[in-house]
Amino acid sequence: MILAVADTPLTIVGAGVVGLAVAARLAARFTGLVLLERRERHGSEGSSRNSEVVHAGLYYPTGSMKARLCVRGNRLLYEACAREGIPHQRIGKLVVATTAAETAELERLLTLGRGSSRAREWSMPRASARMRWRLVPQIQDEDLSPDIAGIRARLQAPGEGFRDFVVAEETGRGRPGLVSLVGIDSPGLTPSLAIAEEVDALLPS
Ligand SMILES: Cc1cc2nc3c(=O)[nH]c(=O)nc-3n(C[C@H](O)[C@H](O)[C@H](O)COP(=O)(O)OP(=O)(O)OC[C@H]3O[C@@H](n4cnc5c(N)ncnc54)[C@H](O)[C@@H]3O)c2cc1C
Repeated sequence: MILAVADTPLTIVGAGVVGLAVAARLAARFTGLVLLERRERHGSEGSSRNSEVVHAGLYYPTGSMKARLCVRGNRLLYEACAREGIPHQRIGKLVVATTAAETAELERLLTLGRGSSRAREWSMPRASARMRWRLVPQIQDEDLSPDIAGIRARLQAPGEGFRDFVVAEETGRGRPGLVSLVGIDSPGLTPSLAIAEEVDALLPS
C-alpha cells in the first residue's frame, strides 16, 4: 500500500516500545494514525534486548527528564501491568558497592532516593557489614551470592557528562507538528508510557 504521510493525521516512525506507547496513547485522538516499522515485526531492535528492569530513575540528576519520566513511567508501567494482567514482579533492587571507596557514592544515591519519590531501590555496600545492617537489616549474609555481571556498551565522548533524553517539538526549527525523540537509549522501557504523555502534550489539538 502506498500512503502519503500528508494524508495521515499522525505518522509515528518506529514500532519499538516507545513508538508503540505513543501510538497507544494517541490512537483515540488521531484516528487513523500510522505507525511505520522497517522490520518485519514490531519490537525487534533495541526493545527486544532489555533487561526487564523497571527503573526508579535513581542515578539521574534531580530535575532531569530522565529522572522525571522514569518516576512517572515506573508508576504507569506497574499500573498498566496490573490492568492488562501482564505477569510481573516487584522484587526491589540492590545497588552494591564492591569497594569501601564506593560506599560514599552509595550514601549519595540513598540520600537522592530518599529525598524524592525515587526510593525503593536499596543501597547495600558489601564492603561494610555494619553499613549493611544499618541500611537493610532484613538481609543476612547467607541471603547473598554473587551472580552474573556484565557491561553495556554506549557511545560517549571523552569527558562527556550526563546526557538527558530529548523530547522536542520542532516548530522553532521550521518543522511544525514534528516531535523528535533523541537519546532514548537507556532506560527507555521504563519511561515509555510517560514519554507518550509528553509527546501528547506537545502535539497541537
Ligand atoms: C542490553 C539492554 C538492556 C536494557 N534494559 C533495560 C531495562 O531493563 N529497562 C529499561 O527501562 N530499559 C532498558 N534498556 C533500554 C530500552 O531497551 C530502550 O531504551 C528502548 O527499548 C528504546 O525503545 P525505542 O522504541 O526507542 O527503540 P527501538 O526498540 O530500537 O525501536 C526503534 C524502532 O524503529 C525502527 N526504525 C528505525 N528507523 C526506521 C525507519 N527509518 N523507518 C521505520 N522504522 C524505523 C526500528 O526498526 C525499531 O523497531 C535496555 C537497553 C539495552 C540495549
